[in-house]
Amino acid sequence: MEKKEFKAESKRLLEMMINSIYSQREVFLRELISNSSDAIDKIYYRALTDEQLEFKQENYFIKLAADKENRTLTISDTGIGMTKEDLENNLGIIAKSGSLAFKNENELKDDHNIIGQFGVGFYAAFMVADVVTVISKALGSEEAYKWESTGADGYTITSVKKETVGTDIILKIKENNEDEQYDEYLEDYRLKAIVKKYSDFIRYPIKMDLTSRKPKEGNDNEFEEYTEEQVVNSMIPIWKKNKSELTDEDYENFYAEKHYGFDKPTKHIHISVDGTVRYNAILFIPEKTPYDYYSKEFEKGLELYSNGVLIMSKCSDLLPDYFSFVKGMVDSEDLSLNISREMLQHDRQLKLIAKNINKKIKGQLQSLLKDEREKYEEFYKSFGRQLKYGVYSEYGSNKEVLQDLLMFHSSKEKALVTLDEYVSRMPEDQKYIYYASGESIERIEKLPQAELVAEKGYEILYFTEDIDEFAIKMIMSYKEKEFKSVSSGDLGIEEENNQNDSTDPSEHKELFDYMTSILSSKVKEVRASKRLRSHPVCLSTEGDLTIEMEKILNAMPD
Ligand code: ADP
Ligand code: MG
Repeated sequence: MEKKEFKAESKRLLEMMINSIYSQREVFLRELISNSSDAIDKIYYRALTDEQLEFKQENYFIKLAADKENRTLTISDTGIGMTKEDLENNLGIIAKSGSLAFKNENELKDDHNIIGQFGVGFYAAFMVADVVTVISKALGSEEAYKWESTGADGYTITSVKKETVGTDIILKIKENNEDEQYDEYLEDYRLKAIVKKYSDFIRYPIKMDLTSRKPKEGNDNEFEEYTEEQVVNSMIPIWKKNKSELTDEDYENFYAEKHYGFDKPTKHIHISVDGTVRYNAILFIPEKTPYDYYSKEFEKGLELYSNGVLIMSKCSDLLPDYFSFVKGMVDSEDLSLNISREMLQHDRQLKLIAKNINKKIKGQLQSLLKDEREKYEEFYKSFGRQLKYGVYSEYGSNKEVLQDLLMFHSSKEKALVTLDEYVSRMPEDQKYIYYASGESIERIEKLPQAELVAEKGYEILYFTEDIDEFAIKMIMSYKEKEFKSVSSGDLGIEEENNQNDSTDPSEHKELFDYMTSILSSKVKEVRASKRLRSHPVCLSTEGDLTIEMEKILNAMPD
């Protein structure tokens, strides 16, 4: 029997592959610029060991030039270039996956830690171009070659003239059609913005000839156009600089430049780690709650860079929900450039970084609380609620991380206190951490239920937010002291010294039975209380739910 091969339209396959890897078309430029930067790096590393070769920084750059008439965009570099063989081997085989080969050779079943190296970065060019032409002259070679392709259906290589070592990539930009716009990739301002977004911290200058307008000499009302070569990237990222060189203002400027927020950050955290995973990060704790923070629209996440190149604007896996207010960026050399959103989630490196970052944020908040109390309280007013949600969610599994960061109003201080402060000043005979829930501090202060506790001189935490009591229920106890609502049936207070001590609980049984029957739909039982002082009556609860929690649960939509 004759065995036939499947026929596949390779061009369509290429398109599908590329479009499934890259979520946005504009990243083609990032990929090509990164390749150029890699090619210059290669000369740089060669020069370190080759005494014949001198690396003069000013001779190495990347240049972008758009030509609207001919619909071409050219990316040139002064990098190491490619020989004819390099062109065949590097650009001739689509998706020659280095990592797949690696995986097969090493019989790895778990694909989690080697995702990424698909070797398709270059082909991203076909997302925007019908024809891609590569003209390259390799270092140490006299000849130059032209590689040309219209996609997966093949390529040609011919001999050409090129003066200098390096590579020009010429993209014939696709025509606009009904659904898709390509003209923007011929607009200087758009190209500049893409460079700024993804490649701002490439170490070599990315140049463009940019046209601007200036007033004509001697006539302020008329303008003339002029063109000059500009470097559009800022090259040295602040996170690669030494902390000692940087001022608070530098960080604040970075925060503003990056549009992390309109406020001034309360604190920044600059991390440089050189361990199992190497990474740099600059994180910010904002001062003010973003307007959409407590809404569904809010998206948490940090910017993720791979060696200075942006690969994701909001990487949510880097932040737990309870620290979702943190802004900033992470740069790691150990992440691959080609990874897409979905694949990144399993990245082992990324998980390590996230864990590490989490610890740093907690540490920073703790020291803020310890050393800069006022600032911490400001922060807490903006984001404390999120921390409490954090305690409550995931069945309290985060309580260890978060409980020391919580604060509540207290009857003693008329201010916010931490659980640690509360417990450390408890009198010896006090068994529980008492709290009272209510709409406002004023309302709570009038609660009849709180009287006995207050008379004993015990401090009471005031819970004014819906989430407070739910969060506390998850913590259950702090430093071995359990929490107790002042409205719970058994307060755990020896009720000595009480003027009603002589009262026999059965004394007014008839009256109480009568009241119970009248109130039967509202209360379970009416009985004598020993905790009241100035008030004639109060409500109390049995079991886990307090009156306030019941109110909230009842108010929730089913
Ligand atoms: P990757 O960059 O992940 O290796 P790419 O598809 O982006 O995969 O590039 C494939 C290869 O082509 C590169 O590894 C490099 O050897 C070569 N290459 C691409 N662009 C250039 C360039 N501008 N200069 C020199 N070599 C290049
Ligand atoms: Mg690449």
